[in-house]
Order: sequence, then structure tokens, then C-alpha cells
Amino acid sequence: MRRSVAAARRELGGAIQIGTEAGLDEVVDETETTGIEALELLDLQPEELERLLGEHFASRGAAPYRVRQARAWLYERDAMSFDEMTDLPTAERAALAESFRLCAPDAARTARSADGTVKHLWRLADGELVESVLIPADGRLTLCISSQAGCAMACVFCATGWSGYRRQLTTGEIVAQFRGARRWAAEHGYGPITNVVFMGMGEPLANRKAVFPALTLLNRAYGFGARRVTVSTVGVVPGILELAERPEQFRLAVSLHAPNHELRRQIVPIERKHPLPELLDALRKFDAAGGRRITFEYVMIDGLNDSPELAVELAELVSEFTGHVNLIPYNPIPGNDWRPTPPDRIRGFAKVLEDRGVPVSVRSPRGRDIAAACGQLAAEHELRPPKPFLELVRRAPEPTG
Ligand code: SF4
Repeated sequence: MRRSVAAARRELGGAIQIGTEAGLDEVVDETETTGIEALELLDLQPEELERLLGEHFASRGAAPYRVRQARAWLYERDAMSFDEMTDLPTAERAALAESFRLCAPDAARTARSADGTVKHLWRLADGELVESVLIPADGRLTLCISSQAGCAMACVFCATGWSGYRRQLTTGEIVAQFRGARRWAAEHGYGPITNVVFMGMGEPLANRKAVFPALTLLNRAYGFGARRVTVSTVGVVPGILELAERPEQFRLAVSLHAPNHELRRQIVPIERKHPLPELLDALRKFDAAGGRRITFEYVMIDGLNDSPELAVELAELVSEFTGHVNLIPYNPIPGNDWRPTPPDRIRGFAKVLEDRGVPVSVRSPRGRDIAAACGQLAAEHELRPPKPFLELVRRAPEPTG
């Protein structure tokens, strides 16, 4: 059934999720309360965009090829305003601006690391700040984007978790980070973005109502092969199951960080809501859906989760999957004195895994000098230790000697 502009507006009104200490994955439709005035073009899937633009131009007596022109400005040329659509007559640009919105957050700050990593701080229409990171490495240009402003998951090592949860991003706000970063990369000689990872601020599978349409858009409107897009989750089981059912081969990264329930519940509080057996069952279903290698992320914190015994446990846990383990040296954040596991012990941990046939890689820290490394994104918000962190340090034994 075809939808009118008003109906599309209502359906795209947005979704917000309710956070709990143990994680947030319940989607509540806020459609009736958002009060959107004009339809956001970046929220729309290509067919709907073409239909609505077709109706819009037809109602003004404009030629049908105006749809193709506007579409190219959106999906290929990353126009940031209707005014930039210079092959449309001035009156048509003005009419578009009256009928539609085009999400184009300002880059409130751009920081470049000595290693080439670039962090953008995007200011959204309501003033909220989110970050994306461009990472050039090995002939690839990977874009790490945010799915929420802040995060409710409260992982003990993560600056975003320490900054708290503020709100869901819309599909348009997620796609806008991609368009903004792609345009910046093209203008500054970084070349095309080759990979997109949902590993920025927020838990993407706790915002499926916006993230899943964004995945479809990246794939179908912006021409990104699904295998070049990775969704990272800390273990939102219902989201993993939904992703497994999608026909596209989007990749999955799971932030494990501990190989048993007791330790994991202290580091990653969602373990209390979706414990490991439930998570592993969901991953088996994802694995069985075929063709999609799972990455197991494991942040290595000195003395906390990096013993050889835990490496043995980890190997046993992941060996049944088509996947590999990515070891991430902890990136320090202000407010705690944890340190990354030293390189020689990371190598030892990796060897235990390799000896048991588990493929393993060690992520080199990128963008630490601009606070753009994994777990460091906080968008200039104040950091407050979440309750699970305080519980963990309270339980830690006193240093000896
Ligand atoms: S690691 Fe990911 S899920 Fe956990 S608090 Fe940080 S952003 Fe949220």
C-alpha cells in the first residue's frame, strides 16, 4: 500500500528505548509525540524517496528528471543543503526546502591524529554531540559511526558508557555521519570509504528501529556491500537474532571481554540480562544463517581479564564458531588507573588461542592522541563512573607489597 507524506512522517517519527542498568533493548515507538514538521529525506528508503520526490515535483509541474537529479545529490554527491543542488532551478530548491528536511550536522570539531585517524564531532539539530572516526589502514578507509548519543550499557572500560545515555539517533542522523565523513574524506585526499563499522557511540542493536533501515540504506542507496558493514554489539540477543534473519550478509562483532559469566557480568553489565548461554545460542543461530564470520572483541585490561587460564576458557568458548578473536589493548580513559595488558602478555594470550586453532588478531591502537580509539568516544561529555565500575573496583583486592 502506498503511503502519503503524512503517513510516512508518522511512521518515521522515531523510536526510543528504555534503559536499565543491565542494558536496554526494548523499543518503544514515540511516533505520536515527536512533532516532526517536515519529512527528513535521509530517513527514507530509495523507493519511498523517489515516490515522494516524484509526487512533489509533479505537484509543481516540474519535469520528472528532477527526481533523478535530487537523488544523485543525496546518494552520490553528498549535498549538505538543497542550495547545493545547483542543477535544480532556484525555485525548485526553495520548494524542496519548504517540504523536506535534509540532515546535515555541523562538524563542531575535526581532530586528526598523528597516525592519520580523524575524529569528527557532529553537532545534531538539537545540539546533541556524537562522534565518528575515519581510520586509514592497510589500503582501506574504515568509518566508525555512532548509533546513539551516549550509551546505557555501562561497560566499565568505556568512556561512552561513562558519559551516560542521552537519546537514540534517527536513521537520518546515522546516515548523515556517513555522508559527512565521506565528503570530508573526498575533500581531504583520504579517498573513498571502504568499510563501515557500527562501533562508535552507543549500542546499535539497542536502536534497531533506526539502525536496521540505515543498514539497508548503506547497502542499497549508497552502494555498500553488506560484507563491508559490521554491526558491533555487546550482546543484545534479540538484535542478534533479528540480524541473523536478514538476507544481507552484514557482519557481526560481539564484544565478549570475558569468557565466563562471573567475570563478564562485572565488565559488561548486559551479561546480567542476557547471560552467556543465551548469547551463545543466538550466535549459533547467526552462524547457522551462513557465510558470516563473527568477530569476538576482547579488550585486554592489565590484571583484570588477561590471564592464560582465561585465554584457555576463551578458546573453548569461541572454537565452535566461524569467527576470530580480536584482542584490543585497553585504551585508558580519565577516572581510573587501569592499564592495557603489556604487549608480551597480549602475545602470550594470543598464542594460547592460536595453539587451540582459534584465529586471532591484535588491534593496533589508533587515534589515542585525539581520544578516538576504541572505548574513548565521549563527545566532550562529563565522565562519571557507572555503578558496575564502582562495584568492580570495590571488590578488587588491595595491592600487595
Ligand atoms: S562498549 Fe559499546 S555498548 Fe559498552 S558502553 Fe561503550 S558504547 Fe556502550
